Amino acid sequence: MHYPNFSFTYTSTSTKHRGRRGHIRTPHGAIETPAFIFCATKAAIKAATIKQVKEAGTQIILSNTYHLMLQPGSSLVKKLGGLHKFCGWDGPMLTDSGGFQIFSLGYGSVADEIKGARRFNQRQSAVKISEEGALFKSYTDGKKHLLTPEKSIQVQRDLGPDLVVVFDECTPFHVSKEYTASSMRMSHRWALRSMTEFDRHNDGAQALYGIVQGGVYEDLRKESIDFINDQDFFGIAVGGSLGASKEQMYEVVQMVMPKLTPNRPVHLLGIGGIRDIFSGVRQGIDTFDCVHPTRIARHGGALVKKGEKEHINLMNAQFKDDPNPIEEGCPCEACQTYSRGYIHHLLKAKEILALQLITLHNITYMNRLMAAIRVALETDTLDEEEKRWLNDQEASQDL
Ligand SMILES: [Zn+2]
Repeated sequence: MHYPNFSFTYTSTSTKHRGRRGHIRTPHGAIETPAFIFCATKAAIKAATIKQVKEAGTQIILSNTYHLMLQPGSSLVKKLGGLHKFCGWDGPMLTDSGGFQIFSLGYGSVADEIKGARRFNQRQSAVKISEEGALFKSYTDGKKHLLTPEKSIQVQRDLGPDLVVVFDECTPFHVSKEYTASSMRMSHRWALRSMTEFDRHNDGAQALYGIVQGGVYEDLRKESIDFINDQDFFGIAVGGSLGASKEQMYEVVQMVMPKLTPNRPVHLLGIGGIRDIFSGVRQGIDTFDCVHPTRIARHGGALVKKGEKEHINLMNAQFKDDPNPIEEGCPCEACQTYSRGYIHHLLKAKEILALQLITLHNITYMNRLMAAIRVALETDTLDEEEKRWLNDQEASQDL
């Protein structure tokens, strides 16, 4: 058995959707699912301490292999006791394979695509892809690095998180079906190489996720699902291009989920809007990650229930003399102590406390949302719960 120290169990109660209430066991504790994974990109949640992140109800964080292999380097993290000790987090942790960032250098990110940015041709020369791996230039010192499936797994082993991910090519949306198909098949070969490397040193401390590829094409997704279902991955991430719009992303998830083997946790890569989370949960997604909640916080964006949008921007003049907290009833320090007017002032005065307070609020908000979703799955009241968080009208949202 590959994963003696990991397990995944779930129950589903609804006849209306595929949503499930689950439990992932890892060597660093359990994750109650559905759960949101916060991005500690460079081994830090920007503008919050690990203690604050934990006290806000966070169960799991992730770091990015690409960033950490360039700065400070995975051998240094290993020397300093591994990622958990390095950043002070004692709960479950995930790292990605590095692929997403590397290929984003070449293509622009999937999120950019969904937002409609068209950057595919601008920087693709920054990465050279071959069967062996991806050759790219470091943004820290300009040196060339070759990241292969083997190297990615070795780096993730040195970093030492609980959950690790196979190396894949993140194909952009604006390529041909032929390109998507050949890229998918190469990613499958890379997945097998990742697993072989994983097996060479598997000591039970980590569990490996495979990634379903295939872009927006149903036949390719089916081919990828058949491949992934046959391999002994602990979990499955839904990746590859999720399309050019939210509707297409929902369609891809809907296309994939019923065909996946049901006994593994499923992660949806890079999606974190509130409506997107409800939609994903209904399809049976167990975990989500996205920089969105902490990134918007650093631009004044605070998540609120039932607004016109999923967040308000506290930079806006309308909050100048607003005596209310960001959200009535929120237990976070920002809401318990300060008014919107005060935080607006901090933003205007460029006080970094503003970013800390909004970050703390948004982390608390996401964790309360996921806790509420878990209860709603137990009581089969997801529709009612969604109405407590979102406006009934279809609001236009940023990813
Ligand atoms: Zn709050």
